[in-house]
Amino acid sequence: MTADIAQHLAAIQAEMAARTDRGQVADYIPQLAAVDTAQFGLSVVLADGTQHSTGDSAVPFSIQSISKVFGLAIALGRLGDQLWTRVRREPSGLAFNSILQLESEDGIPRNPFINAGAIVTTDAALARRAPREYLAELLTFVRTAAGDEDIHIDRAVAKSETETGHRNFALAHFLKAEGNLTNAPELVLGAYFHQCAIAMTVDQLARAGRFLAGFQRLIAPERTRRINALMLTCGHYDGSGEFAFRVGLPGKSGVGGGILAIAPGRASIAVWSPGLNAQGNSQLGTEALEMLARRTGWSIFG
Ligand code: GLU
Repeated sequence: MTADIAQHLAAIQAEMAARTDRGQVADYIPQLAAVDTAQFGLSVVLADGTQHSTGDSAVPFSIQSISKVFGLAIALGRLGDQLWTRVRREPSGLAFNSILQLESEDGIPRNPFINAGAIVTTDAALARRAPREYLAELLTFVRTAAGDEDIHIDRAVAKSETETGHRNFALAHFLKAEGNLTNAPELVLGAYFHQCAIAMTVDQLARAGRFLAGFQRLIAPERTRRINALMLTCGHYDGSGEFAFRVGLPGKSGVGGGILAIAPGRASIAVWSPGLNAQGNSQLGTEALEMLARRTGWSIFG
C-alpha cells in the first residue's frame, strides 16, 4: 500500500500541476485574495501511521471552515447532545453564508458547518469563558491532534475578516434576536474569526484528522462517527451532494482552499489548493480527492 500511495500521489500531483483552470480565490476576505492559485499540496496518513505527501505540503494556509470540525468536537465535549437543541443536522442546500433559512426556521441553523450553525456552536463552546480561553483550548486540541506545537492563529487574517465580515455580523445579530446566542454577537464573532484564521499545512492537517479516521482517541468514538456523518452530508455546503457523489468520503472544506477528508479506518487526507469552485470549495482539491478515491477504492460506498 505504501508504494502504491506514493505512486498515486505522484500521478495526482502531475495531473494537478498541468491544470490551467484552477478556480478563483475567495476575495471577500482581503487577506485570502492575495494567495497564489498555483499552489497545491496533498498529504495522507495511513492506518499504519505512515504519512505520504506531495507538492506544497509544508506551506501553511488558512484552514477557515475546516476549523468548524474541531470547534464542534469541543462544543460537543462541553454540552453533549444538548447542542442539538440549538443547531440541526440537515444539509442546507444553500451557500455557506446564507441567511435565508434562518428566518423561516426560527433562528435554528440547519447544521454546525454552515456559518450560522458554526456561530451558534462557537457560542456554545465559549460557555461562560472569555474567547481567549476557548481559543487556547481549541489550539491545544488541534496541536494535540496533529502532534505538533507549531500551529498558530494568523492574526492578520482574523483582523481582515473582522473588518469585512458583514454577513457574519448579520447572521450573529439575527441569531441573538432569535434567542439562539448566549454571548454578545461581537464576542462570539471575535472567537469565530480567530478560529477560522488558524493556519496549518496539509502535513499538519492530515495528522490532525487521525482522530476522525479512528487512529487516535481524542474524543468518544460515537462522537467521531457523528462528526464524520455531518462532514459527509454538510461539509461542502451546497456542494455536499456533489462531493459525496464524486469522492464518497466525509470531508470538510474551507474557503482558504483546504479540504480534510476521512476514509474511516483507512486514511486521514488533507489537500490544499486556493482556487475555489462556484460553491466555495477547492476546485483542484476536490479533483485530487476524486482521483485518490478512485485509485484507492476508499469511497465509503464501496
Ligand atoms: N471565515 C469564513 C466565513 O465565515 C469561513 C467560510 C468557509 O471557510 O467556508 O465566511
